[in-house]
This record gives sequence, C-alpha cells and structure tokens, in this order.
Amino acid sequence: MALIDGMSRLLIDGKLTPGGAGGFATVNPATEEVLGEAANADAADMDLAIDAARRAFDGTDWSTNTALRVRCVRQLRDALQGHVEELRELTIAEVGAPRMLTAGAQLEGPIADLGFAADTAERYEWTQDLGQAAPLGIPTRRSVVREAVGVVGAITPWNFPHQINLAKLGPALAAGNAIVLKPAPDTPWVAAVIGELIAEHTDIPPGVVNIVTSTDHALGAMLAKDPRVDMVSFTGSTATGRSVMADAAATVKKVFLELGGKSAFVVLDDADLAAACSVAGFSVCLHAGQGCAITTRLVVPRARYDEAVAIAAGTMGSIKPGDPTKPGTVCGPVISARQRDRVQSYLDLALAEGGEFACGGGRPADQPAGFFIEPTVIAGLTNEARVAREEIFGPVLTVIAHDGDDDAVRIANDSPYGLSATVYGADADRAAGVAARLRAGTVNVNGGVWYSADMPFGGYKQSGNGREMGVAGFEEYLETKAIATAAN
Ligand code: NAD
Repeated sequence: MALIDGMSRLLIDGKLTPGGAGGFATVNPATEEVLGEAANADAADMDLAIDAARRAFDGTDWSTNTALRVRCVRQLRDALQGHVEELRELTIAEVGAPRMLTAGAQLEGPIADLGFAADTAERYEWTQDLGQAAPLGIPTRRSVVREAVGVVGAITPWNFPHQINLAKLGPALAAGNAIVLKPAPDTPWVAAVIGELIAEHTDIPPGVVNIVTSTDHALGAMLAKDPRVDMVSFTGSTATGRSVMADAAATVKKVFLELGGKSAFVVLDDADLAAACSVAGFSVCLHAGQGCAITTRLVVPRARYDEAVAIAAGTMGSIKPGDPTKPGTVCGPVISARQRDRVQSYLDLALAEGGEFACGGGRPADQPAGFFIEPTVIAGLTNEARVAREEIFGPVLTVIAHDGDDDAVRIANDSPYGLSATVYGADADRAAGVAARLRAGTVNVNGGVWYSADMPFGGYKQSGNGREMGVAGFEEYLETKAIATAAN
C-alpha cells in the first residue's frame, strides 16, 4: 500500500519512530495472509508517549488556542479525506470490513464527523457569565469556564476502528486535550496511518497526539494507572472496562467507558412481522455482527414465533459470508481465529442449552481460508439462556418470544447491558411508549437511524458511562471551573 510509510511506526512527541519491541504481523482476516508489520511498542515507548503528551499539554498554548485546534482538526479531516481510497483498501484488508460499509461508519462517516468536532469547538460557549450575586452576603461576579481535562489515554477495539479512534481523537483534540491513543493489536495500521498523516499534513504540535501500537495489553493498563494521565477514554469489552475502571481508581482519574451490548429488537404484535424480522436478520449480518450496538435478541409475539424465526432465517440464510472487497458483500469475516473460535463456542453452547439453528451454525464450507462464520438464527430458547445474555460478537441472532408489550419491555430490559434497542410497531404512539420504557442509550423506532455526528451514543448499565459523539461527546473531554470574583 503506497500511502503509508508510517504504518509501521509509532507517533511519539511528533516523531514517527519504530517500536521498542520490534514489529508484529497484521493479518487480513478474510484470507489469513500477513499484510505486513506494525510497530510493537514496549513500556518505555508508552512512558515516552505519556511524557510527551503531558509536556505538550502543560507547556504549549494548545489547550487555550481554540483557533489552532479547529484548524488542526480540519487539517486532519482533510488529510484523511485526501487519502480516502487508500484508506478504504487498507480498512477492507486489515479490518475485514465489507466495502459497502466503508462509505459509512467504517470510514467516510467518522472522517467527516471530525468536522463536527471542529465546528463544536468553534462555536462553543467556553465561558458562561452567571452575573453578580451575593452568596453569604458577599457581592460576587460569577462565571463558569469549561476547559480541557488534560492528558487523555484513549484505548480502542478493532471492530469499527476508524469510527472509535476518530470519535475520541476529534472531540478530545477540539476540546484542547493532549492524547495518547492505544489501538487494538488486531488493527494497528488503520491507527498508525493517522499518526503518519498528523505528522506530515497537520500543524498539530509535537506531543499533542501520540499513537502507540502494541501487542501488549498492559500498555493500556499503564494509561489507566499513570498519574500523568488525567482521563481514560475506553471502548471495548465490559470485562476490560471493569479492569480499566479499577486501575484508574488509584489516581481517581476521569473514566469514560463505551462497552459491550446485547441489544433487543422488539417486534410488537401490530408490526409488519416480515419487514421487522428481515431487517433484524440483515442488520445482525453487517460486518459479521461485530458491532457493539447491533440488536442480537429478536423479541417477537409468541403467537407468531415460528413465523418470525422462519423470516429471520430466510434473510440470514440467504446472506453468504464472503470476500469483503466485493461491493455486494454484507457479511465479511470476523477479526481473528480467536474471535471465530469464540463465536463457535457460543454456537456449541446454544445447542447445549437446548436451542436449535434455523439457519447456519458453523463455518461456511465454501470458505476454507479466512475467519468466516455462517449467519445463524438460534431458536427455542428464552431470555435466560447464556446465548441470550452474553455478547457473542458474531452474525448470530437469538429469537425470543414475548407475551405482549409489558413482557417485551421486561425481556428487553432484562440484561446486564443497555447500549441500544429497536422497536417496530404500526401504531407510532404505542411504539414510542415502548421505546420510552427501554433502558438503553440509543433507541431506533421503526427503522430510524441514530448514528450521526450530532447524536450522543453510549450505554446504560454495564454498557458503559458517558457519551461519545454529539455535543455530549465533546463535553466528556472538558472540566468545569467555577470562578467567583469579589465585586467590591
Ligand atoms: P477488549 O476489551 O479485549 O480490548 C479493547 C482494547 O483494550 C484493546 O486496545 C486492548 O489492547 C485493550 N486492553 C486489553 N486489556 C486491557 C487492560 N487490562 N487495560 C487496558 N487496556 C486493555 O475488546 P475487543 O475485543 O478489542 O473489542 C470488542 C469489544 O468492544 C466488544 O465487547 C464490543 O461490544 C466492545 N465495543 C464497544 C463499543 C461501544 O461503543 N460501546 C464499540 C465497539 C466495541
């Protein structure tokens, strides 16, 4: 790939540097071929990166020079857009993302969304004048100032890496922070290329952005523990999120978590069952089900359970997992052999729990290479089954019967997670009433789309805390200072 000299280097203190632990292979999940080497950072590299970020935040005007930041974030957007075709091929190759998704959330969407972060900083009311008052009888002029938190440690997963990397970088930078990004070891190049573009196409001062690729998960823990880091912004599994939170406790740093999900797709008894169940089946196949907010529990009226299963299986059975480079592919590979085996272990568990497959259930026979899993509908289980409670992160849909609206709400909310939900129903008021009762951070009613730069995204319960994107996502990266000046 021509772009990218920096793909095998770290970005530390404005310089593209090799990894202290050498290199590691990055693999195409659709073919199992090694694409090349990424820089493998060690603890000393991470220490330098944190130090550089600290010095950049404390020693430059980055946090107070809003015009510079707005310009730099737009430069980054433009640099990414200027290389979008090379990035598209890289994303398909390294992430296994189907080509069609790169027009949206897998690439072009998050690049464009950097513009929203810059615009938000530009028009933000950094100082709010609360006027004069006399608290405790003392005349006082009061204002509330919002300012950057400081050094942000950003830790990201592999499933939508551009979206997650850029939804942290954009707002954190626009808000005035310095950042150390530690991406997932499965998708190092798509992060490292950002470092290359920052170094060569933006005026972002040295140390403001540091990108540290590594196979060593402990470097993420370093960010959570280090007293020089003011905030950790983490996206990944709930188990790792707990560990990040515990590691951050010693320094009481701000912790922002976007975690897992087991979201429900609720079909009310007046809904168009065929349309609803087809949409549910299709959406769980997108990017092989590797989306935290994908609705993986289809909750349908008991009287029409068999019909619903057949419709979902008809849709999913017709979607053949395959080559993500092809324009028509919806379902590519999962990211790794480890992830494929994990999904397979859940399929085995579904049978052990008494479920049955209405379609799929294993690896596709026509794909000898690559980490592919057949789109699978699991039927015959209740919401108590582990496959209905635990995140599988593959193209797997579990169909569950409900006995009316109250029961559907109960089932949808009966989950440790609360990331997302969908409701389909013919009566708009009734569907809206059900949506209002769901304990989830985003709700799609009858096919509405919540994914957009100005819409906050995040989870209730064990799906995380805080919000990414929207003005709320920008404000996650701000502190609040109340200034009281004696008015005598
Ligand atoms: P993961 O939790 O295994 O890893 C995520 C990141 O954390 C990686 O960069 C990893 O190196 C790092 N890490 C691992 N152990 C660590 C530790 N002890 N301390 C600090 N960092 C550590 O997740 P994954 O398998 O890469 O990604 C899949 C998970 O991410 C799924 O659970 C999915 O639901 C979740 N996810 C959530 C969202 C969201 O916005 N809610 C978005 C995408 C993915």
